[in-house]
Amino acid sequence: TDGHDPTVRREHAVIIGAGLAGSLAALFLARRGYAVDVYERRADPRTAPAGLNGRSINLGLSARGMRSLAEAGLLADVLKRSVPMRGRVVHSPDGTVAFQPYGVREHEILHSVLRDELIALVVDAAEAEPAVRFHFDMRLLRLDRDRATVEVAPTDGGEPVTVTGDLVVGADGVFSTVRQQMQYGLRADYAQEFLEWGYKELTIPVGDDGEPRVRLEALHVWPGDDALMVAHPNLDGSLTCSLFMAHEGPVSFAALDTPEAVRTFFDRHFPDAAALMPDRVEEVLGHPTGQLVTVRTAPWRHADRVVLIGDAAHAVYPFYGQGMNSAFEDCLVLDHCLGAHPGSRAAALAAYEAARRPHTDVLADLSTQNFQDLRARVHRVGYTAHAAADRLLARLLPERWMPLYTMVSHTTMPYADALARARRQDRLLRTAAASTALAALAATAATVGAWRRNRGR
Ligand code: FAD
Repeated sequence: TDGHDPTVRREHAVIIGAGLAGSLAALFLARRGYAVDVYERRADPRTAPAGLNGRSINLGLSARGMRSLAEAGLLADVLKRSVPMRGRVVHSPDGTVAFQPYGVREHEILHSVLRDELIALVVDAAEAEPAVRFHFDMRLLRLDRDRATVEVAPTDGGEPVTVTGDLVVGADGVFSTVRQQMQYGLRADYAQEFLEWGYKELTIPVGDDGEPRVRLEALHVWPGDDALMVAHPNLDGSLTCSLFMAHEGPVSFAALDTPEAVRTFFDRHFPDAAALMPDRVEEVLGHPTGQLVTVRTAPWRHADRVVLIGDAAHAVYPFYGQGMNSAFEDCLVLDHCLGAHPGSRAAALAAYEAARRPHTDVLADLSTQNFQDLRARVHRVGYTAHAAADRLLARLLPERWMPLYTMVSHTTMPYADALARARRQDRLLRTAAASTALAALAATAATVGAWRRNRGR
């Protein structure tokens, strides 16, 4: 038995989506005493042939995700399957390469992990809980939000099944069906924004000598106004790249329609990357282009019956590397809220939304801003000088000064609090710079005055 009194009816949670958020939520809910059924339209990631599920991307795991995985008891296993990234290697268009450490302290590193492998690990752990069952190749068709009832159907066209729970968790990603049907006809806010840029997954394979072609323990970034590329390292010494650029226009995925166009594009924009990517032509022409979407919405819940987590509640552009991390953080906060309100799930769900939504809205803004930074600023003098000043102050005043990137990636400080603190620090930096400039001006004026007086003597 799983330690629960069999005469007491467990509450029943039905989770839609066994992505990152849904799988971890299954584990937490089971440990909170729920019987859990998870319905996922894709194949089981543990047995599906590689690539069947589409996105074989790797992701940067940072403090928030790590904290949630640690509370679930999974962090050590995940870290064994990830590559530490101690900073960014920025490849400038002129061919120069610069290493920028992520943080000022030893532990301030990110970890690159394959999405499908991570999901498989979390699904395994959740399934080890006796009260959890996963149902793959099953798609949600309909939700009855007042009765916590779903209609799900096998993706091979089999007969739909109706399942009634006590709580339905919408973990079905950015185009969530749970969200649409939960909010349908009610007073709800919904804003969806598509970036004019999309992305393609490409690879830097290991070299012919079996060695990595570039420094492995780092995120590699090729900034650019018209196109940018980032590459995460894999355990086998290869790197997975995401190439970002406009869908349409003179420099765009649409324009890369012949092998010649692809070769010319790389030679012009990322000359040093071209040499590292022998398969770039086939990959650019053959791989699908992904969409980048921001979603802000409210409410995230319906009475004590339905709740949204992860991208279903708040999708952000990937430029801060926080989508998965914040999705994992949702799971933890939801679990804590259920623990804090044992007598009322409605109160727990309300507390969860109040604790998360203001912060994930800020994350959406930060992620959009980081798009601008990654495109252009990381290799410009002003940006690197500001980042260097930020890092220097953090080193000199470790208790009092923390760069925004550090707060977002290496702490679990709520996003809006991190932004407010960064703004205070920026004001101080500007005031200090202004007073240094004033002091320099005053000193110059005094010197000139003294010189004139001396000359007049
Ligand atoms: P998803 O992972 O999308 O999972 C939703 C699941 O629901 C899917 O498995 C889907 O098949 C299933 N589903 C959907 N509809 C139905 C239905 N009707 N019935 C049944 N099942 C359904 N985040 C980071 O933290 N760090 C990074 O470095 C990072 N890099 C990224 C790079 C790129 C290019 C992109 C696009 C995203 C990146 N992210 C990153 C974001 C991260 O991938 C997402 O935030 C994260 O996957 C969200 O998890 P989720 O479980 O909420 O949604």
